[in-house]
Parts: sequence; structure tokens; C-alpha cells
Amino acid sequence: MTERLDVAVVGAGIIGSATAYYLAARGLSVAVFDREYVTAGATGRCPGGIRQQWSTEDNVRLMMKSVEIYEGLSEELGAEIDFHQGGYLIVAKTEEERRRFEDQMRMQRSLGLPVRWLEPGEIKEMVPQLDVEGIGAIGAAWNPTDGYANPFKVTYAFASAARRLGAEFHLFTPVRRVVVEGGSVSGVETDKGFFGAEFVVNSAGAWSREIAETAGVSLPNRPYRHEILATEPVRRFLEPMVISFHDNVYFRQSHAGAILGGWGDPNEPPGYNLSSSPKFLGRFSRLLISYVPGLRSVRVVRQWAGLYDVTPDAKQIVGEVPEVAGFIQANGFSGHGFMAGPITAKLVAQLISGEPLDLPIEGFSIERFRRGETGREASVVG
Ligand SMILES: Cc1cc2nc3c(=O)[nH]c(=O)nc-3n(C[C@H](O)[C@H](O)[C@H](O)COP(=O)(O)OP(=O)(O)OC[C@H]3O[C@@H](n4cnc5c(N)ncnc54)[C@H](O)[C@@H]3O)c2cc1C
Repeated sequence: MTERLDVAVVGAGIIGSATAYYLAARGLSVAVFDREYVTAGATGRCPGGIRQQWSTEDNVRLMMKSVEIYEGLSEELGAEIDFHQGGYLIVAKTEEERRRFEDQMRMQRSLGLPVRWLEPGEIKEMVPQLDVEGIGAIGAAWNPTDGYANPFKVTYAFASAARRLGAEFHLFTPVRRVVVEGGSVSGVETDKGFFGAEFVVNSAGAWSREIAETAGVSLPNRPYRHEILATEPVRRFLEPMVISFHDNVYFRQSHAGAILGGWGDPNEPPGYNLSSSPKFLGRFSRLLISYVPGLRSVRVVRQWAGLYDVTPDAKQIVGEVPEVAGFIQANGFSGHGFMAGPITAKLVAQLISGEPLDLPIEGFSIERFRRGETGREASVVG
């Protein structure tokens, strides 16, 4: 066990595991603490969607860089991650949505994203099983370089590579407190004792607010349950991820053939409820069948829930907090932390090691809330 760490990372989801990898690759001593196991949080409960079609420029840039990393990640980490670029088809149902998507696509194209508008007939050509008229689709935003990867494979690949480079993983080891002395972090108090560290990264997902509070830092994040299900495998028919902000729904087909999908309940209160509800099962099943009537007789084999870690503007918080030197936030991903994971972790490692950053992160600073800035990310399944 290392005497004093360069970095203590709280949470072994995609963010913590990838951060450990990029830090260890820079020769820093790093230990990750999780009160459960690698992927126990939202990471092991998400379907692994990776999209670059966002309403804010900084998110488009961030996700484009993340996709660049995903494209070479299997090779870099020496492990299969099931990364697949089958595209994202974002269905529009109203004229207001069409106008908004057109504005966003102009901005996205100006940043180099090969996104385009699909007319209803083109959607049908792409996925003949979609009931385009039945759901009232008037078109869709389409980006062929979006896709998905397997969250378990990605996160374990990062964690294994980090371990090979010397990072320690202390699993089933809750962090009780981030210890602050004289305005700087000095380490973490855990169930297995105190670990001194020069930097502490708060990547505890939906529990980040509690971790920050122990250091006297107030985060605006709130946890929200999101439910999801998987069907039995069916013959492959669906290349893209299909989503609709209008219906608050998304679904894709896994490598093994299962349909994975979720619906965001707009009336869900904040909280740590992780139970599965019949309401979700009924509502999502009806929605899915309306999109793909051919799935009517397919059986649901599993249903579960995870927590979104949501900020007031639906954008993540990344960077050091001004009131505690060495206390780095990487949380508040509001439902898109898996896709943002690799680049965010790399940026955090660059920040800690004093390197130039691949992208500016001011837009993700906690201080935007204190300055009262608005710039809400609108393209979310909330
Ligand atoms: C149903 C659902 C669908 C989603 N779909 C997508 C998607 O398609 N694409 C996408 O990009 N994102 C998606 N997301 C969001 C994505 O899953 C998260 O943003 C991402 O996984 C967050 O990763 P993380 O590492 O920050 O947090 P987590 O994976 O939640 O990890 C946090 C870890 O911190 C640990 N922890 C908590 N408290 C402590 C403590 N006191 N001490 C030590 N450890 C602690 C937890 O055990 C946990 O392992 C979805 C989420 C859900 C729930």
C-alpha cells in the first residue's frame, strides 16, 4: 500500500476507473475507493449509448473527442469493448422540434459532425420495422458516427489497465470523509483508515453531493431514478439507437440481440429509490410496441433502475472547486456520463498533472451556477 498518494479517487464507475487509468499512465500514484465494486453505480445500469448530437457546443465538442477515444480504445486498453457506430436516430414529432433540430444540426455540422435530417421515407428505409406513420414522426436527426459500447467491458478494461500501471482499487471500502486541512485536501477517511493524498477526485456519481458535503463544498446535484429493461434476444434488425425527446424514450439492440430501452418519468421525484415499477414496465412496453409493432410478442427478461446525477443545467461539473485546493469534481453527468467518460477522465488527469488540456473545461466549472449563468443542455431524456 502506498504511504501517501498523489490522487485518491472516490467511486469506481466509468469516471473513477478511467481517471485512475489516465493518472497511472502519467506515473502518478493513485488509489480508487468504492463502497461496493467496479460498475456498482449508474455505469453498470446504463445501456452504453454514445452520441454527439447535443444542443450546447461544449457538449458536442466533448462528445466528439470522447468518440475519438472510443474508436481506438479496444486497442489502447487491450480489451474488447463492443464499441459499435450504428448511429443515433433522434425522432422529431413536431414542427417546433424540426426547427430546433435544424438549428442544432447547423451548429453541430459547423463543428464537423456529419449529422443530417432524414425524411420519414428515409427513416423507413433505414429501419423498416419502425412504424414511422404510427408514431407520428415527421423526420429525424441522424448522425452515423454515434453508437454504443458495453459499459461493463469499457469500465473493467479501464480498471484492469489502471491496475497494470500500478493503480490500487480498494473495493467495498466506503469513503466517510474528504479531509481538508488549511483550505487544501489532505486525503480521505475510509472504513479502512486514512489515506493521505494531494488531490481527491469526487467521481461518486449520484452520491457526489454527499461526498462534497464532507469537505464543506455544496453541489447542486440531485439523484433521479431512471428505469430500464431488457427483452429476450430477437433477430438483429436495429443498427441505430432510436430516441425521442418528445416521448422521453430510447432503445437499442444489444450485440446479443436484446432490446435495451428506457423511458424517463417526468414526475419522478428526486431521491435514491432504486426499485423497479409496474408503471415503467407498462408505459415503456406500450411505447416500444408503438415504435416497433413487431416486438409485440417479445418477452421482457429483466427490469432494473439506476440513478441520474442531475445538475440544474443538465451539464456535468468538472474541475477544481475554488474553496478547497486539490478537490476535483467529475460528476453531475445528468444521464450522459458513460459517453463523456473517457475524455472527461483524460481532462481530469491532464488538469492534475498540470498539462495543457485537450479541451477547455471552464463551461463545466461549478462556478457557473454561482455566477447564475444559463446555458442549459436541452437534448436530454429527462
Ligand atoms: C437507466 C440509465 C440509462 C443511462 N443511459 C446512458 C447512456 O445511454 N449513455 C450515457 O452516456 N450515460 C447514460 N446514463 C448515465 C451514466 O450511466 C452515468 O452518467 C455514468 O455511468 C456515471 O458514471 P460515474 O462513474 O460518474 O458514476 P457511477 O457509475 O454511479 O459510480 C459512482 C460510484 O461511487 C461509489 N460510491 C458512492 N458513494 C461512495 C462512498 N461514500 N465511498 C466510496 N464509493 C462510493 C458507488 O458505489 C459507485 O460505484 C444512464 C444512466 C441510467 C441510470
